Amino acid sequence: MTHNHEDGNALAGPLLDVFAFEVSTATARCAGCTRTEPIVALHVYQGGPGVVARCPGCGDVLLRYAETPHGRWLDLRGTAVLHFGAATG
Ligand SMILES: [Zn+2]
Repeated sequence: MTHNHEDGNALAGPLLDVFAFEVSTATARCAGCTRTEPIVALHVYQGGPGVVARCPGCGDVLLRYAETPHGRWLDLRGTAVLHFGAATG
């Protein structure tokens, strides 16, 4: 793992169409070490075919997202819980 990363705010743009809430306000629990952090605290790596977000504690991958000609791919298997605000309306 390199330290050449951005913070989790870099996820807000790519995931805007996927989630109907402001992703940067959510928290995520790492399935590897159970650490819970705001999404904005994740270490985000771009430049590959997609975006990868890693736990700042243990370095495990919490989220992968890619856009391809065949669709959009979201892999959350490293996220034990994604928590965001209460439903409105
Ligand atoms: Zn972790």
